[in-house]
Amino acid sequence: MRFSDIPGHLRVKDRLRGMADSGRIPHAILIEGPAGTGKFVLARAFAQYIHCENRTSDGEPCGCCPSCLQHESFNHPDTVFSFPILKSASTAGVCDDLSKEWKKFLDESPFMEFDRWLQMLGNPNGQPVVYSAEALNIARKFSKTSYSTKYKILLFWLPERMQNECANKLLKLIEEPFQDSLLIFVSDNPGEILPTVRSRLQSVPVNRISVPDIAAYLEQSLGSDRSSALAVAHIADGNMISARNHMLQSKEYSQFLDFFMLLMRAAYKRQVGVLRKWSIDIASLGREAEIRFLSYCERMMRENFINNLHMPSLVYMTQAEQAFSSRFSPFINERNVERLLAEFKQARTDIAANANAKIVLFDLAIHVILLLKA
Ligand SMILES: [Zn+2]
Repeated sequence: MRFSDIPGHLRVKDRLRGMADSGRIPHAILIEGPAGTGKFVLARAFAQYIHCENRTSDGEPCGCCPSCLQHESFNHPDTVFSFPILKSASTAGVCDDLSKEWKKFLDESPFMEFDRWLQMLGNPNGQPVVYSAEALNIARKFSKTSYSTKYKILLFWLPERMQNECANKLLKLIEEPFQDSLLIFVSDNPGEILPTVRSRLQSVPVNRISVPDIAAYLEQSLGSDRSSALAVAHIADGNMISARNHMLQSKEYSQFLDFFMLLMRAAYKRQVGVLRKWSIDIASLGREAEIRFLSYCERMMRENFINNLHMPSLVYMTQAEQAFSSRFSPFINERNVERLLAEFKQARTDIAANANAKIVLFDLAIHVILLLKA
């Protein structure tokens, strides 16, 4: 992870680089700020930079020395990760039990979407914590000399979720650090960290990411066009998780519109073969996406019906949806709208109940043929 791969935060990056370059690294720091601002990925870049054997002249880790390669695969021997877990997912209450899930999470959600982590822990309503067993585990790891590099580094996600017993045990490590150890805590809600711990950490505040920085990142990383990226960046409120989710959702919506238009055109022309392929394609999206798609279709039905009543102020459609609707909406009228909505709702219910999606969707398409002629 290079600093330049992370959007924004120029001053924070300079500050972290400065610490590493001068060799005056505090032994315990707290990177703190709102969720979704890339704090943990900054901490990762900082750790990699410290360990890199061949830093570049423009202040980046080289990306190809053995240390960098170990960092890129989350396997650096002198880097320890601690994070909140659920006891049900780990019998011993130590983070090592979940290292596979954790690495997957770091890889897939670099901006650390907490809800995603809950899903990976297997309980979307869980309240994960860092147990006291983890503090003992950290102390044990730090009591050993570092393997290959000067610094042994702890990257601790969400210290506000430490159990008090864990915090008290860690306090000793913070107050009497081992030589060349660096403890990096990364917090979304620093006010909730035990004050005795927080007061001993050097603060590195991180602000929300600016609109132009978010937009530029979306363009580069998600391949979005400039105007969509700017529109999403404006509503993301400096939060990259929300920006990414908006962007992905809008990509999904445009795919849903394509499928919706295909269904309606093929149903109008009674192209049974096209509809059979359509049902196979939708069924390959996976159950959750199929359900979202059917909800999307229901919304489109309602919007088109309202559009057909010539009540434009009630219509909420994107430009692309409106373009299709301008010719399509007359086909959704008081004779068929209720039955169409009922068919889509039934299909959604059946798929949610694990019915065979291909059969349900093809059956739905045949009903749409009949109802469009109503
Ligand atoms: Zn390197």
